[in-house]
Amino acid sequence: MAKYDIVIVGASTAGSYFARRMAERGFSVFVIDRSTKDRISPDYDIFHMGKDEMDHFGLPKVEKGDGIYAFEFTESYMYSAFGGYPKPSPSPVVGMHKHGYIVRMNEWAAEAGAEIVYEASFVESVYDESGKICGIVYEKDGEKISVECRLVADCSGIPAVVRRSLPDSYGIEKFELTPDDILFVTLRYVDFTDKKEEWMKSHFWIFYKSWVAPSAGSDAIIGMGSCFGFDYVEKVYEQFTKNVKLPAHRVKWIERGMTPYHRAPYSFVADGFIAMGDAVCMTKPNCGEGCTAALVLEDIAVDVASKALENGAYPTRESLWSINKKYNGTQGKEFASLLALLASVIRHSAKANEFLFKHDVIFSKKILGGMSGGLTLNVTDYLKTLVFVVVGLASGQIKISEIKSILSGVINSGKLTELYERFPETPDGFDAWVREAEEVWSKTDRLADWKPMG
Ligand SMILES: Cc1cc2nc3c(=O)[nH]c(=O)nc-3n(C[C@H](O)[C@H](O)[C@H](O)COP(=O)(O)OP(=O)(O)OC[C@H]3O[C@@H](n4cnc5c(N)ncnc54)[C@H](O)[C@@H]3O)c2cc1C
Repeated sequence: MAKYDIVIVGASTAGSYFARRMAERGFSVFVIDRSTKDRISPDYDIFHMGKDEMDHFGLPKVEKGDGIYAFEFTESYMYSAFGGYPKPSPSPVVGMHKHGYIVRMNEWAAEAGAEIVYEASFVESVYDESGKICGIVYEKDGEKISVECRLVADCSGIPAVVRRSLPDSYGIEKFELTPDDILFVTLRYVDFTDKKEEWMKSHFWIFYKSWVAPSAGSDAIIGMGSCFGFDYVEKVYEQFTKNVKLPAHRVKWIERGMTPYHRAPYSFVADGFIAMGDAVCMTKPNCGEGCTAALVLEDIAVDVASKALENGAYPTRESLWSINKKYNGTQGKEFASLLALLASVIRHSAKANEFLFKHDVIFSKKILGGMSGGLTLNVTDYLKTLVFVVVGLASGQIKISEIKSILSGVINSGKLTELYERFPETPDGFDAWVREAEEVWSKTDRLADWKPMG
């Protein structure tokens, strides 16, 4: 039987990055993906990564004319429900063809020594006599093949095939995403009949979770994401195009895909096991993007797992635990609090949204501009919010229930920040911490609890 230090299930962004980094550390790495190399990651064409993030994570570079690079832009604006009051949130972004970039990432992992096998589907995990993972079985060309290893990494995306197949007592949440926990994303690739230039930057309408962004092969992409399903996306789209004046355009083609919108599991590790990427719902709550978000956890995991695997050691839950601690104390707490905040803050009418955008409160230049990090609010910001909330109530622009919702979002988001900051150092305090976390999450709004279009 073949034997490796690490087996990774899934060779998209999360799997390729972990494969490359662990192979660079000198570990033997085996990656399986159920796709063919020609078809890997084909669900949608254009995707974005922050330019600074690509540099930070040392990802393969792309350049004009290489067949992967599509465009770059920096200007980005958020608008009210009726398309007014633009708030700038600039950041340099690179647009790429996703399939081509994943192939590039696969080759980048292989250059460091990782072995990748395509058309190979995960079947089951293999356990030793003490019940700890020690390998997997996969199927290729109708044959079931076993591989031995010390660490299995689940990077299989939304299906989370390994995480969800573990025994109930293995110490990892096995939840499956329902249509309430997913953003169904529809991308319309369009050509404008006129008025192109001002649309060649990024525009976002948080009320509908809709955007117009640069494209390749068409003038722009009109995107929209909603829970519940693709039919519901169309309902919201209808409302969006009634309320917001888009330039005349012709739809060239449409793509659809899904991205998780759920809190991450409380723990990412167990004996001989780690899960990363969409398999643990690691997407940015403000935009649903997950490619670089996952790499924050992965950089932590590379350091901790390398140590846990040193000198032929078996990576136990205890030896991998600091991955949870380090992640939950940083991006984990930010994502948890933002997820809670956004689900509450956007529960209001288009009229209230217009009022808040107009007076630069809640959806203020400062808050929206600082969403990607480094945001600090002062007493003046809070006072201004309070004054406009009172004015909005008095003038009937905003309802008391909408204010309550915003307030409960702010409170729960603060509670989650505080809770994730005191994530236990060792597995000892974990059960008690989970009980507290369940309590707060049970009172926290979910995006799917509110269905504005009926
Ligand atoms: C329309 C749309 C647009 C998006 N745009 C962006 C964007 O611009 N920027 C961004 O950062 N994010 C974007 N996202 C989110 C992003 O696509 C995901 O967060 C990211 O691809 C997750 O990567 P992953 O490696 O965790 O999982 P995936 O990309 O889902 O890869 C999982 C891999 O596992 C393999 N696999 C699954 N099951 C098995 C099995 N049983 N056996 C073997 N292999 C298996 C699959 O074949 C696949 O290759 C977008 C999502 C959608 C839907």
